[in-house]
Amino acid sequence: MAQIKKKPLRRCAGCGSMKEKTELIRVVKTESGEIKIDQTGKVNGRGVYLCKDPECLRKARKSRALERSLRCSLPPDVYDELGRQLDGG
Ligand SMILES: [Zn+2]
Repeated sequence: MAQIKKKPLRRCAGCGSMKEKTELIRVVKTESGEIKIDQTGKVNGRGVYLCKDPECLRKARKSRALERSLRCSLPPDVYDELGRQLDGG
């Protein structure tokens, strides 16, 4: 029987559900204050997570959850890029 490993869960800033990191997309504010969409999960900085679901992005954008988590404003092009990535799968 396969051993069940506990994987760390992260909370989606949109819907608030807990999921494995691999099911989420990570947005990071780097030490230089740059906002990046982190494909690797290895970028250093303050991160916030979203389901790979455009609906969660919409919710997070409406509630400004990403801004609150990252403690800065997000440029519109970050939302655009997120939207593209989530819609494209
Ligand atoms: Zn979600």
